[in-house]
Parts: sequence; C-alpha cells; structure tokens
Amino acid sequence: MPTTAPRGVGHLRGDQSFPAAARRALADSQLRRNLGHATATIRAKSAAVIAEAPDWQQLRDAGAAIKADVMARLPELLEQLEAAVTAAGGTVHWAADAVEANRIVTELVAATGSDRVIKVKSMATQEIGLNEALEAAGITPVETDLAELIVQLGDDRPSHILVPAIHRNRAEIREIFLREMPGVDPALTDDPVALAAAARRYLRQTFLHTPVAVSGANFAVAETGTLVVVESEGNGRMCLTLPETLITVMGVEKVVPTWRDLEVFLQLLPRASTGERMNPYTSMWTGVSPGDGPQQVHLVLLDNGRSAVLADEVGRQALHCIRCSACLNVCPVYERTGGHAYGSVYPGPIGAVLSPQLTGVEENASLPYASSLCGACYDACPVKINIPELLVHLRAAHVTAQRRPTTESIAMAAAAYTMDHPALYAAAQRAARLTRLAGRRGRGLPPPLSGWTIGRDLPQPPPQTFREWWAER
Ligand code: SF4
Repeated sequence: MPTTAPRGVGHLRGDQSFPAAARRALADSQLRRNLGHATATIRAKSAAVIAEAPDWQQLRDAGAAIKADVMARLPELLEQLEAAVTAAGGTVHWAADAVEANRIVTELVAATGSDRVIKVKSMATQEIGLNEALEAAGITPVETDLAELIVQLGDDRPSHILVPAIHRNRAEIREIFLREMPGVDPALTDDPVALAAAARRYLRQTFLHTPVAVSGANFAVAETGTLVVVESEGNGRMCLTLPETLITVMGVEKVVPTWRDLEVFLQLLPRASTGERMNPYTSMWTGVSPGDGPQQVHLVLLDNGRSAVLADEVGRQALHCIRCSACLNVCPVYERTGGHAYGSVYPGPIGAVLSPQLTGVEENASLPYASSLCGACYDACPVKINIPELLVHLRAAHVTAQRRPTTESIAMAAAAYTMDHPALYAAAQRAARLTRLAGRRGRGLPPPLSGWTIGRDLPQPPPQTFREWWAER
C-alpha cells in the first residue's frame, strides 16, 4: 500500500493549524506590506510576458497533457530514466521516504570525506529536512541561492516557493548579513547591489573550496537520463559544474518522457514564475563526462508520499506541479498570510492541496480550507491544475475521515429527512415563517448553528409558500 511522508522528519507539517498561524501572520503589518509589494510586482511582470505568447493556452494544454501521460506511466518512465542515467555513468538511488533519502545523501557526502556541501535551491531537500540531517552528521550545508542564503543565515523558514525570503525587506536582509555573514563589510548598506555583492564575495570562496554539491532538479528527461536545473543567479551553474561530486535529490514526479516534452515546460516555467521569456541559467547534465564537471554523479529518486498521491485519481493532479509559484502570487489568502502560516515548505494554493496528500489529510486537515475557492490559482496555473476541485475533494476526504457526526452533518440529515416527508416539510415551512413574524430578519441562527450566520445574512422566508400559491389558484 502507498505510504505517506513519515512524521518527525522534514517540513511538511506545521506546529499550528492554518487559522491559528494565519492570525499571527495577519497581525504583522510589515509582512503584509512586503508580500503585497512582491506579489504585485511578479504578477505584473508575468502577465506582460504571457501576453506576448500567442500560443499560451495551447502550451498550457500541452503541459497538462504531458503531465497526465507521465502520471499514467510513471513506473515505466522512472525505470527508463534509471537505465539512461546509469548508462551515462551516474548512479541512481531509490528513496521511499525522507528518512531513507537523508540517510543516502549523508552517507554519500561522508564517503567523500568532506564536512561541507554547497546547495542549489531545492524544494525536495527542504521537504525532507536534509540540512538538519547533514548538520546532525557533522556536515555543514551552505545554501547558495541568495534568498535561501538569507533564510539560512537568518535561522528562518522559506515562505515562498520561488522567493523564499519574500517576507524580508532589504533593511532586514542587511541586518542579517551584518550579524551572520563571515567577513562582511561593517559599512554594508541596504542597496540591493551592495547586498548581492556581499553575498557573491562570501559564496565565491565557498564554491571554490567545497568538493560536494547537492541539488534538486526541475526536470529529468527519461529518454537520455538528462537532469535539468533552471535558475536566475548562476549559483546553480557553479554548484553543478565545480565540485567533484554532485548529488541530486528529485521527486519522482519530475520526470518527462522526451526532450520535445521538455521544450513545452521550458516555455511555460519562466513566464509563469519569474515573468521572464527565458530563465537566465538552464543547466543540463547527463551522467559523467570524463574530465569535465563532477566525476561522481548521483540521482536520488524520492517518493515520500508521492505514490499515495498518485493512487488518488483526483488528487494526483497535484503531482503535475512545476513549482512556478504563479498560484501563490495570485492567491488572496497567501497574499495576506504569507507562506509560514501553511506550516509546510509548500505554501499557498499548491501547498494547500499537496501537503495534506503527502502527509495524509488528517495531519494537515486545516489546509484544504485555507482558500476562498475563488479559482484564481486555476486560471494562473501553467499546467492547468484544478486546485479548487482538489480543495473540495480534500475537504470531503477530511469530513469522511472524521467519521463522527458534526453539527453540519446532523443538520443535513435532518434536512434530508424533512424533505423526504411532505407533511413535515410543510410544517417546517410554516415554522420558518414564524421567524419572520418574530422579526428575526438580519439576525443569526441560534447556537449551535450560529457559526453559519456569523458572516452571512439569514434569508427571509417568503410570505407565501409555493404550495399555498398553487392551492390558491
Ligand atoms: S500549482 Fe500550478 S501555478 Fe501553482 S506552483 Fe504548481 S505549476 Fe505553478
């Protein structure tokens, strides 16, 4: 049977339910300003470049179709990928969950004798808590993506898939650098160019003196065993080419069948994510090339609950995600609460449907309700994941899993019984009219139903029922 991601390791579960965590986030006006500014900027950039692509809707359809095909024959494609990577001189490892993946990577790093690794930004390694596992083994992980570095130095948590430090402004970043970055100039200003230059100086030395890198992968092409990382800063290119050993941790859903399929996603991803026509750095590598780049190449294929998601014919759409973060940037809930309220490394609309499925719905039961079901995420998604449908599907799964009567289920059962008995139904209608006589219009229902009318007007019953109107005529 498919298993879900294990407890006590990784970052898929929060300490609090979404409403409690969101309340705390909403009280932080600086956070809301930072988020509002950043998401509005990315939205505008993305809309402008999407408008330039006349075949955008066809590309979205193609992306959705390719992903559906991948899910339908995932085992076969993964075996094809494994064979191609192995034939090219790489080594493939299969990790059932976060514990196994962390153990594999830690052992591989330890075998090199290095006590430090450089990292390319990777959601999969955050998901499994790899940094904590490496630190526990005496290995220092150094994040090299600028935003991830800010998060790491600030002993913080990422709050956005693409812009992990979106909740920080430049004054806060300057303070973190002055406090935590070795060798930083004390006269550092909060000018973005100066901040980037400080990070560059610090990272350059680390790149040149670390023999092992750990990355994620945006895609893996099954037909040739080629792994693909797209990024904006060039730090990824350094990590993927300079070290002797390269270890890539990739969720099993990231495989695509052919280069022709990859072409579709390389058009969709940058426009939907950073609002660029083409991302600045696209690194691709196929196994080992003697004398060029890493000479030890490992690929860790991570399940960690994905088989359980795949087993759900409705829920499996969540595995189509290419982590562009467009759904976060248009979500009115995310824009107000930020990413930390979701408790998982996957925030926003995709987090609200992916995290509960990876952990089992009951362990993230509040997340499917963290939405107004406005549908903006569905419209924005470059691979057309129907997130509102998934949210409703997971809410139903949660209600079913509870298996105990709720106020709502009792009320619905009573309504069903009443509607099934005409005399009772007529009596109920007459009774409802009494509320009109009692002047209850505009007031709420009495407990225990009062919660329903906190944010809604109670409709006024009509002065005459249909049956009465019919009888009159
Ligand atoms: S669900 Fe769609 S919009 Fe959201 S991050 Fe994934 S691919 Fe992007």
